[in-house]
Amino acid sequence: MRLRNLFLLLIAAMALLRSQAHAATTPTEARALAAARNDHTAYTLPAGELVKAKALTRTRHLVYWADTVWGLVTLWLLLELRIAARMEAWAVRISRRRWVQGPLFVLQFNLWMTLLLLPVAVFAQQTERSFGLSVQAWGSWLGDEGKSFALEVVLGGLGVLVLFWLIRRFPQSWWAWSAGTVMALSVLGVFATPYVIDPLFNRFEPLAKSNPALVAQLERVVAKGNGIQIPPERMFLMRASDKVTTLNAYVTGFGASKRVVVWDTSVAKGTPDEILLIFGHEMGHYVLGHIVRSLLFSFALILAGFWVGFHLFQWLLRRFGARWGVARQEDWGSLVVMILVLSVLGFAVSPIASAYSRSNEHAADVYGQEVVHGIVRDPQATGRAAFAVLGETSLDDPTPAPFYEFWTDSHPPIWLRAAFAARYDPWAEGEAPKYFSKQP
Ligand SMILES: [Zn+2]
Repeated sequence: MRLRNLFLLLIAAMALLRSQAHAATTPTEARALAAARNDHTAYTLPAGELVKAKALTRTRHLVYWADTVWGLVTLWLLLELRIAARMEAWAVRISRRRWVQGPLFVLQFNLWMTLLLLPVAVFAQQTERSFGLSVQAWGSWLGDEGKSFALEVVLGGLGVLVLFWLIRRFPQSWWAWSAGTVMALSVLGVFATPYVIDPLFNRFEPLAKSNPALVAQLERVVAKGNGIQIPPERMFLMRASDKVTTLNAYVTGFGASKRVVVWDTSVAKGTPDEILLIFGHEMGHYVLGHIVRSLLFSFALILAGFWVGFHLFQWLLRRFGARWGVARQEDWGSLVVMILVLSVLGFAVSPIASAYSRSNEHAADVYGQEVVHGIVRDPQATGRAAFAVLGETSLDDPTPAPFYEFWTDSHPPIWLRAAFAARYDPWAEGEAPKYFSKQP
């Protein structure tokens, strides 16, 4: 693929994204947001809980930085201490066949990374346990880690064979081909995850089985929603209470695998109205096409990232390749250089990805509030209460540091969502709702 074509593709993807961008902020929405920003009273915690929430936030930030920095240092050390070169030499000694060497290299690499980052992972899980957010026993936790490890080795082993085949076949443009491959695989991945990956880690059952009354209510919300259809078979209950005490609901999958999942903890701790509102938010992701849009958005980021990454990667090989014992791009050891480069780039774009996600989440909040209008008695009070319950059960900090919101947070802060929900009511202000302008 020519570079010029690639940039045309990138521009086309961006244009598509723009055309699908959210409808402009409505006056009611803007007013509610402005007022909400000055209101820290919609979500608060009692003094004792507040101390815990602050401590939890501090510890989580520590984990975030330990994971990020130590992750990068580990990759660097694998190169600097020539461990990557030795892993390659060992794989090549075992077999002359490339399709054996690649997965063997991935296996060793994953072992090193998992073992070196295990202390951070254990500390993170210990934190969740000590704050009462996780109730997962260590044996079960280790089992999950083992499954993730096996998945990474199997999928990574296959992926690396495709990648290195592309490198040998297209020495100058493999980055574009592999970006295309990653895109195709992510669509497949999003489609297959609910079938293949999710059931490995959690138990799912039809929501109608245990909560038929709730499903009937949810169907009323669905019937209101812009002609969308979410049949009861697409509504699942996840046994989250096996592992956590926090609440959640989400939309996942693609096409025929698309579904809504409600955690059993949400059903246990939320009122029916609150669940309808949370569901309305999830349905918003569905109706507003957030899964497809997020895929398109990540495609644009991946394409740009792989292009920048390719040049950075080439430069690193020229500059340090001899010292690391990774001289050529088709050496298996260069995989570690690629992952180092992609990790640095991924870190650098996290504010962009977070901001994008937050804008989707806010849109879904608006949608959720509108779709339950006329079904839930008081959507504003219910919205505020729902976010308060979400915040209390997750020990969310009511006054979080703006830096982390900007850098890592995929959702607007809970205090702002609660304060916005408490105010947002286009009907009361005689204005057309944002996403239901055609309905009274
Ligand atoms: Zn959401």
